[in-house]
Amino acid sequence: MKYVDEFRDGALARGIAARIAAEVRPDRRYSFMEFCGGHTHAISRYGIAELLPTEVRMIHGPGCPVCVLPIGRIDQAIGIALDQGAIVCTYGDTMRVPASDSLSLMKAKARGADIRMVYSAADALKIARENPAREVVFFAIGFETTTPPTALVIQQAAKEDLKNFSVLCCHVLTPSAITHILESAEVRQYGTVPIDGFVGPAHVSIVIGSGPYEHFAEEYRKPVVIAGFEPLDVMQAILMLVRQVNEGRAEVENQFARAVTREGNLAAQRAVSDVFELRERFEWRGLGEVPYSALKIRAAYAAFDAERRFELHYKAVPDHKQCECGAILRGVKKPTDCKLFGTVCTPENPMGSCMVSSEGACAAHYSYGRFRDVKVTVEAV
Ligand code: SF4
Repeated sequence: MKYVDEFRDGALARGIAARIAAEVRPDRRYSFMEFCGGHTHAISRYGIAELLPTEVRMIHGPGCPVCVLPIGRIDQAIGIALDQGAIVCTYGDTMRVPASDSLSLMKAKARGADIRMVYSAADALKIARENPAREVVFFAIGFETTTPPTALVIQQAAKEDLKNFSVLCCHVLTPSAITHILESAEVRQYGTVPIDGFVGPAHVSIVIGSGPYEHFAEEYRKPVVIAGFEPLDVMQAILMLVRQVNEGRAEVENQFARAVTREGNLAAQRAVSDVFELRERFEWRGLGEVPYSALKIRAAYAAFDAERRFELHYKAVPDHKQCECGAILRGVKKPTDCKLFGTVCTPENPMGSCMVSSEGACAAHYSYGRFRDVKVTVEAV
């Protein structure tokens, strides 16, 4: 396929892998965190980790929207549908995330709740127009990529003066999560997660630009390379990070120059800041409460805020006792460190959020067999 195959070229991948191998210093280790689940998926799917020399280690980050959604928020959405009789609309992956009492949105639907999978925020708005006698709630999740469409449907609902539409806003922010990881005890004091640099997400950066990452490079002396999601994008980003580390640089570099600018998408940013403001704190699965890491709906659009409309109060709920998602999302553990991985917990029967979405670290490892003892050499690929 044009504009896709070029970024999956095996010969080029082997060439970049050979360059990385030639440039790493045998006397040091390189640990890079790929923040985004899209990169985790690409690394597993295309066997990128196996192409890298042993000196380079990739650490999975918390950038999978479904994985970081805490149980308490899913409970709220289920409660709105089951107890308040509203139609709750959300993206497909969110439907299967385990919630309290062995429920999920999917299981609540089987119990009679009117929960509908949608492909876009605009679909939820359409359902609200078609059902004027019912309350329709869009359960909005995701990072900066999915926030602008939510802002636009709220603006549109206000324009149309829709009385039955609201949004349960669980949008979260990438830069705050990276700061939280850099400030964590594991990274700062104990050194259990030695991070030498970050692979930054392309799609988020198309919206926010590369500017917000400059803080990490300057303040924490950590290089950031914003990269696309095709295998060659990721390989090239790793090579760029290796070079920064070798040269003692800590800069923001943009591998995804085909779409990311320093400023980002200003129209999208304007829509988001018109509708949303920062939450003082928000609980992330795995990271706990992270200050100023999520958005809430501004008072001017209060009529479309499901939290106000249904008088919701957040209650934190602990994860399954044996689930290691929290440690995996902080980069402290690997999926294979979890006793439930691949036995009790599989993509068909997920016990934790990291096994639900294809972007989750556990699902990516399981789906592409990266947990098996397979050693692939550069020559063999
Ligand atoms: S394998 Fe399942 S239970 Fe274990 S950490 Fe991953 S999602 Fe949680």
